[in-house]
Amino acid sequence: MNALPGPATLDAEETLDPAEWGDVRTLAHRMIDDSIGYLRGVRERPVWQQMPVEVKASFERPVPHAPTPLDEVYRQVTENLMPYPMGNIHPRFWSWYMGSGNFTGALADFLAAVQGSNLGGGNHAAASLDIQVVNWCKEMIGFPSSASGTLVSGGSMANLIALIVARNVKAGVNVREDGVAAIEKPLRFYASDQVHSCHRKAMEALGLGNKALRRIPSDADLRIDIAALRAAIAEDRAAGNQPACLIATAGTVNTGAIDDLEALADFAAEEALWLHVDGCIGALLAIAPANADRVSGIERADSVALDPHKWLHAPFEVGCVLIRDAVAHRGAFAVTQEYLESTPRGLASAEWLYELGLQTTRGFRALKVWMALKEHGVEKFGRLIDQNIAQAHHLTGLIEQEPLFELVAPTSINIVCFRYSPKGMGDAARKALNIEIMLRLQEEGIAALSDTTVHGEHCLRVAINNHRTRREDLDILVRETLRLGALLAP
Ligand SMILES: *Cc1c(COP(=O)(O)O)cnc(C)c1O
Repeated sequence: MNALPGPATLDAEETLDPAEWGDVRTLAHRMIDDSIGYLRGVRERPVWQQMPVEVKASFERPVPHAPTPLDEVYRQVTENLMPYPMGNIHPRFWSWYMGSGNFTGALADFLAAVQGSNLGGGNHAAASLDIQVVNWCKEMIGFPSSASGTLVSGGSMANLIALIVARNVKAGVNVREDGVAAIEKPLRFYASDQVHSCHRKAMEALGLGNKALRRIPSDADLRIDIAALRAAIAEDRAAGNQPACLIATAGTVNTGAIDDLEALADFAAEEALWLHVDGCIGALLAIAPANADRVSGIERADSVALDPHKWLHAPFEVGCVLIRDAVAHRGAFAVTQEYLESTPRGLASAEWLYELGLQTTRGFRALKVWMALKEHGVEKFGRLIDQNIAQAHHLTGLIEQEPLFELVAPTSINIVCFRYSPKGMGDAARKALNIEIMLRLQEEGIAALSDTTVHGEHCLRVAINNHRTRREDLDILVRETLRLGALLAP
């Protein structure tokens, strides 16, 4: 038998807590003060700047063995990290598609980490709050309260979870036990050619393969062409495939186009398809008074993916998936483990949230959504969505007035696709010129845009999902793009 540890060993027991809590208090307060200054001054800094080589090199050093005082660690953060952000919290960041965060949400992430609860489930307040935020998401988009749902890392995971449930329901066999090889008629999913790339990854992860997701042509407004959809489904049935799921997009990432959700809900019912709505961009239009009608019909879907880290501006990460059929949702993920049996009372007496998705341990991402919604009220978030759409239409107006600019896609909601287009310039030269303008705008710290190709036409893309943007920022963009265009055009 081993000897019991003696008193000397006990004395040597260690913890990560500070020896003196008083010592960290001053530094912690300074971090909060600095954070307030950082956000207050964001407009004065460049949107983005290239890291100097020494800064980059600092991230290539090996794991530290010896301790460093926390003040020194924080000094390294303030010097090497904070000045070189992606930039999406800046008022003139409009690249790709992401939210701009908020301070209350950041405080909430801190508090959530301090409380430290695991949202795999259990009977504790964080789990009840997490469930409440999912219920609020249902309420915001008009989904029935009997539906199920869960918070996940973002829209990609939300879409994946929904498509797993759709596949299992439509497979006609027990996919969980027997795998996709047991499916008799090959399943087919449908979406427009504007569908987000995460659906491709989902189809691959589902074992159905990329080809099982048929891309249906989009019309001039970049919405799914329903006649073409109908034809594709008839063709698949004739070929012995099983049409299973229709993925509608409420707000495409390229141009913000919204598929006709009412028509697609009717169509899915006629054809007995699972209707999933990728609402990562647009589902929350449902709370925006001037634009809610654009997503009417979303409440008829079998499942919806939405993204609070986009138009609710929650700090990353938080996405949400809602599934109308709660039994089907749990049926896709529930497992009973001997080490996770429920008890009649106590900590294990509430629902296991890990049975609603793929993670076991889950972070407490609900608090940042909860605190910001409480602080501002949902109506303000709705007005901010309307504000971004009005700003996009303001920019569209400026582009239409300027002969050197060309609008490349119709502006639906908050995404504007345009290019600098001097008369008589060939496609390749114009593309190179626009990319150079975009890079100079980034490198000079003026604005962050991205680019894309819509129905074969290359363009710059301004996605205004930003509560800090003002119209004057868009005026600056127009002025600076014209300046750079004149400077760089041959
Ligand atoms: C952003 C987006 C996604 C992916 O969401 P993440 O939160 O980035 O994982 C999916 N679909 C659409 C339409 C999106 O805009």
